[in-house]
Amino acid sequence: MLFNEVLDLKGKIRIYCRVRPILPGESKDQSTVDYVGENGSILIVNSLRKGKDSKKVFSFDKVFGPTVSQEQIYTNIQPLIRSVLDGYNVCIFAYGQTGSGKTYTMSGYDLNTKETWGVNFRAICDLFQISKTREDVIEYKVGVQMIEIYNEQVRDLLRSLAMLSILFRFGFTFSSFRHKVPITTFSSTQDVLDLIRIGQKHRIVGPTAFNERSSRSHSILTVHVHGKELVSGSIFKGSLNLVDLAGSERMDKSKVQGDRLKEAQYINRSLSALGDVISALAQKSTHIPYRNSKLTQILQNSLGGHAKTLMLVHISPEPDAIGETISTLKFAERVA
Ligand code: ADP
Ligand code: MG
Repeated sequence: MLFNEVLDLKGKIRIYCRVRPILPGESKDQSTVDYVGENGSILIVNSLRKGKDSKKVFSFDKVFGPTVSQEQIYTNIQPLIRSVLDGYNVCIFAYGQTGSGKTYTMSGYDLNTKETWGVNFRAICDLFQISKTREDVIEYKVGVQMIEIYNEQVRDLLRSLAMLSILFRFGFTFSSFRHKVPITTFSSTQDVLDLIRIGQKHRIVGPTAFNERSSRSHSILTVHVHGKELVSGSIFKGSLNLVDLAGSERMDKSKVQGDRLKEAQYINRSLSALGDVISALAQKSTHIPYRNSKLTQILQNSLGGHAKTLMLVHISPEPDAIGETISTLKFAERVA
């Protein structure tokens, strides 16, 4: 079953949707999510509209309701992640408005509590564990990069003067470069987890200490896997790209100016460029417009071809979020 699912995912774009729960302190008014079906359908209620226009069904490959745990989410994407060890390039994007749960899914909540771990830590532990079981047949090397794209500028989240001493303690090596960002190689899970923690802190604070900056930048954690088959000596490479996208909400142009307006324009442009690339790939178009944004340029080699792409769209069930919820679901429908 799992094996077939992996084969099935090859070269295909998958769209999953996750609905976060209503949070303490939020309005207890009726959730906009009326129904989540096992077949990947979701029924949205829009109280701003009347009659039959107030209900709309969207269909995706899978939909996860508000009670689905971090572990269940991981179990559903595990075959995709493990295929990196067979030499596939995998991209998982978390898309949605700010506050819809993207970072919760990708990075988790309380890093000291395993149950709340997100996809990133689970994936790294899983990849290390599986690679150990294949030790007699394949020699694996694992490298990590963590970058942020803010206003079309790339920043390395794992390098700063303060961090270099820590990296040396971890015995890092510049094994190779991608987009001028060195890849740090590791041999133990704990070292990678410690490093990601640092990268995450770095993303949140940022050099300008701008409030909430993380919701206006894209972050990409890439796990590079290099495998050598011990008998044949043949070598292969795979990569896992976990992308926590900038918030997809539309800014009111009459209300934002200056830097905020510039940021909003960069975000809108890069998210639509990503949508265009994914839908061109889904339609097997001959021209894939990778050049229109930094995000798609950087991921060019990890999207398309034999790559496997998963768009994990996030929505909030709050009545106030209905406008963004509908546009998120429409975006997801468009790229599928
Ligand atoms: P985003 O990254 O999309 O801006 P966050 O991941 O920061 O959103 O989530 C917003 C808030 O909702 C946070 O307080 C987070 O802990 C909470 N949250 C998100 N998803 C869930 C979930 N599935 N279960 C419980 N709390 C969640
Ligand atoms: Mg976030």
